[in-house]
Amino acid sequence: MPSLTRRELLAVAGLAVLGLSAPSARATPVDPKALNELEESLQGSLLRPGSPDYAALATPRNLRFAATMPEAVVLCAGTEDVAATVAWANKTQTPFAIRGGGHNYADASSSRGIVLATRMMNVATVEGTTLRSQAGVRNADLAKLLPQGGTGRLLLPGGNCPAVGVVGLTLGGGIGPNARWAGLTADRLRKVTMVTADGSVVTAGDTENPDLFWALRGGAGGNYWVVTDLEYELVEVPVNRAVTALITAAGRDAALAATMAFQKVLADNGRQVSGTLRLGHAGGDVEIRIRMQALATEAEAHDMLAPLLSVPGVDAALTERPWWDVYAWYTTAPTPSYSFWDRSLFAEDYLNEDVVARAIEVVRRFPANGDSERRGAMGLYGWVGEAVTDIAPGDTAYIHRSAKVLVEMSAGWATPAQSMWPDTPIPPDIRDWEQNLWEVLLPQSTGRSYQNFPDPLLGDWARSYYGDNLARLQVVKAAWDPRCLFTHPQGIPLPG
Ligand SMILES: Cc1cc2nc3c(=O)[nH]c(=O)nc-3n(C[C@H](O)[C@H](O)[C@H](O)COP(=O)(O)OP(=O)(O)OC[C@H]3O[C@@H](n4cnc5c(N)ncnc54)[C@H](O)[C@@H]3O)c2cc1C
Repeated sequence: MPSLTRRELLAVAGLAVLGLSAPSARATPVDPKALNELEESLQGSLLRPGSPDYAALATPRNLRFAATMPEAVVLCAGTEDVAATVAWANKTQTPFAIRGGGHNYADASSSRGIVLATRMMNVATVEGTTLRSQAGVRNADLAKLLPQGGTGRLLLPGGNCPAVGVVGLTLGGGIGPNARWAGLTADRLRKVTMVTADGSVVTAGDTENPDLFWALRGGAGGNYWVVTDLEYELVEVPVNRAVTALITAAGRDAALAATMAFQKVLADNGRQVSGTLRLGHAGGDVEIRIRMQALATEAEAHDMLAPLLSVPGVDAALTERPWWDVYAWYTTAPTPSYSFWDRSLFAEDYLNEDVVARAIEVVRRFPANGDSERRGAMGLYGWVGEAVTDIAPGDTAYIHRSAKVLVEMSAGWATPAQSMWPDTPIPPDIRDWEQNLWEVLLPQSTGRSYQNFPDPLLGDWARSYYGDNLARLQVVKAAWDPRCLFTHPQGIPLPG
């Protein structure tokens, strides 16, 4: 059995507190005899409602969708189990979803049929500059492996949430604190092994099945196959030490000045600096929290960040640290699951002052209604651009190469026990609020959204995630999964 993270334990505990251990109604009953046959063919295990770990492995991160619970979780031990499960689902016409770290925003890794879980497939090794990873590996596993594995300063650039799965992260692109100098997680991918819709085990790389390899880098998870193994080329960190900066401020004026200064620091310092800014609602006003990393000495970082440090009212802490301490500092602590609706927009220019001022006004008016569990924020990710632009938009399926920032609009709220089953709707006032923020930001954006932050309410989602690469992705879909075995509400459609 895999050991569970704190978040997963909290999710299980939450379900237990609510008196819930199994779905009350299922749309797609699975033939118990067929399920038994599948179970007997596995080296791993099959978890039914009520069995230990079922709730933890079946519950999605976004509790809005916690009603979508499967008849069983198939905990695959390896490629053979994956192939057997895919063949079984094909034969029995059972709907299924693939689950890695379970962090999909929009329920794409949940199913009322079965969930094919890769959590047990969690071995990763490093040999020279090559990282080999099974599909169930998460960021936290890599964080343990890389610094302590005798690998010096070799890194796989990735995100900063420990529980996110490496396959989901990579297939959608993979942005993080190091993307501006090291590129996307997907850019380090060299070889992938997967089980395709007809049950074959197929490998893709630059010269082997290059169409698949193209689609794997940005085409997002759950669309064509089940990835079982990945191979990456690690990149050498160019410094022994680097600087972390935590900068906070409260109030409209400071937030506006600091947001503009944050973008200036990114614009002026190229690959050496990256960071994120969170503009959050705070008691009728706004507050900002900026986290930055500079590949520089502390003195150099002070110069680089000077426009930000000179904003009246900001508090700043700059610390020079050994490289792996910087890496650890940037890794967030796991947080309990909750209900949320997040949207995103890429922008090819830094946001102008008028747009930022209007966004601040919207965030200030977030309908918290005195409920401390409601939270609304705008995130500005300076984790794009620079090295991400070294690859052309058509060279991989990831289209958003020329973006300078990614904006995320986030709203979260507590999930009341009585509405956990079925799916909880977005509270109407939160929906209006987020729509307002969207309308402020849309004109300065490319109109495209990040496929790794999928938005179930996005209108033309396929074009938003994939732009001009959509048609080629559809050709790959038709060639490798013509009967749409792998599908979810925002799955790549067949051409025509
Ligand atoms: C708290 C949080 C922090 C995040 N931080 C970042 C970040 O820093 N940078 C960033 O780029 N993104 C980030 N994300 C987004 C994240 O990268 C995506 O949601 C990613 O797809 C999650 O992968 P997962 O395996 O955890 O999720 P899952 O829900 O398990 O999977 C995501 C998708 O991939 C599919 N999939 C999973 N395993 C496989 C497989 N073996 N073969 C084929 N398809 C598969 C699933 O069916 C689903 O469609 C974050 C998300 C959250 C919730």
